[in-house]
Amino acid sequence: MKPQSHLFKENAKKALNDANLARALNNMKAGFQDKRRATIAKLPEFQDLRDQARDLKNHTLENLDFYLSRFEDRVTEKGGHVHWARTPAEAREAVLEICRSVDAKTVTKGKSMVTEEIGLNDFLIESGLTPIETDLGEYIIQLRHELPSHIIAPAIHLNKEDVAETFRENHTQLDPNRRLDQVQDFTDEARAILRQKFQSADVGITGANFLIAETGSTVIVTNEGNGDLTQVLPKVHIVVASIEKTIPTLEDSATILRVLARSATGQEYSTYTTFSTGPRRPGDLDGPEQFHVVILDNGRSALLGTEAQDTLRCIRCGACMNHCPVYGSVGGHAYGWVVPGPIGAALDPGLIGLEEAHDLPNASTFCGKCAEVCPMKIPLPKIMHHWRVKEHEAKLSPPRFRQGLAMWAWFARRPRLYRLGANAAIGMLGRLGAKRGRFAKLPLAGGWTAHRDLPAPSRGTFQQQWARHKRSQAPSSS
Ligand code: SF4
Repeated sequence: MKPQSHLFKENAKKALNDANLARALNNMKAGFQDKRRATIAKLPEFQDLRDQARDLKNHTLENLDFYLSRFEDRVTEKGGHVHWARTPAEAREAVLEICRSVDAKTVTKGKSMVTEEIGLNDFLIESGLTPIETDLGEYIIQLRHELPSHIIAPAIHLNKEDVAETFRENHTQLDPNRRLDQVQDFTDEARAILRQKFQSADVGITGANFLIAETGSTVIVTNEGNGDLTQVLPKVHIVVASIEKTIPTLEDSATILRVLARSATGQEYSTYTTFSTGPRRPGDLDGPEQFHVVILDNGRSALLGTEAQDTLRCIRCGACMNHCPVYGSVGGHAYGWVVPGPIGAALDPGLIGLEEAHDLPNASTFCGKCAEVCPMKIPLPKIMHHWRVKEHEAKLSPPRFRQGLAMWAWFARRPRLYRLGANAAIGMLGRLGAKRGRFAKLPLAGGWTAHRDLPAPSRGTFQQQWARHKRSQAPSSS
């Protein structure tokens, strides 16, 4: 996938005027936030589990070379193969080579953001293969030739009417007058069509939530069972995963699984949690004849030891985006890259470059909700702040913004002058806006007033209000 994050501001403007998108995104509160809160409330040790999950992932990242190498050894011992890929091109080639070695024509796929990152579907199509997405959301957006807009709910930007229209346009072999207005209708129709694809696929490709170094197992969590059919039915199973998915032991996976589903969908556990270890063994009733794991770096190892290292703890639960007011207003496509929302704003500049993605860390109100809900305790606002500083140093922010900041810094270093200037400016704005109580337009505040009125200051500067507050709290002398 070619990043389009430099178009963020343009995309965000369009998204804000899209009533259909706003309606679709509106479902996030009941669908994600309320369920998460209710499930977490039932688990008193949830905060302890977050600490444990953070610590074990930090330990893994500090010893990543060791655990990756152990994972490779275990996979090989179990009869599987590990392929290392520094770049998306190397990962794509590794997958193609495996497909060609078995003369594959069709490939079923489970949901995998890493395969989106490396643009695998387009590449396989150009190479003469037919990839079929089998997660319902991914299947819908594949039919629409769109990218996922959310890491766990790829079609969250769509409403039921959009999906019905897409199915009617694509499933032309079915009765045009069939009922298509309930989620169950879509599920039944997709299931019937995908069942044939599962049965005829030569290769199955999945991502991985974890790579377990102790056993050489890969783990996926799904709610539709499509991942299991993808990896069990074809004769070849390829897992595509990035380096930071590694964890040391089976027991560690249990710790993270306990926070993952609760944070993602508000379930205690996902419907299916599937561990795959090597190819089918003699006596096994099912399973692939070949088991391959393609492990991608694509800039992640360069983040180790930097201020952005904590982003590599991410388990892609989506909670940060489900609670982000910016994501909730503009949706995932505006971000122009596979990982949107707060984690995208913290991770993407490190992966696709600051020049491409420097607007993303600014797409935050810094309300802190993302860090509060993150099960891995990733300090997302702190990392976004880090990128903002880098953006400023690299002179990537608009010159007017930098000049304004320089002027503010000059005053801030001279407190008396700052207070005098702030008192005068706020006093003047208070008098000018006293009548209407707000400004529809104001020089230097166009970014704000373009979308809403600016309230007129009515109670003085922050420092004046703070001084009044302190006086009111002071013990009385009588
Ligand atoms: S940053 Fe945290 S909340 Fe966001 S997707 Fe990753 S693990 Fe989940």
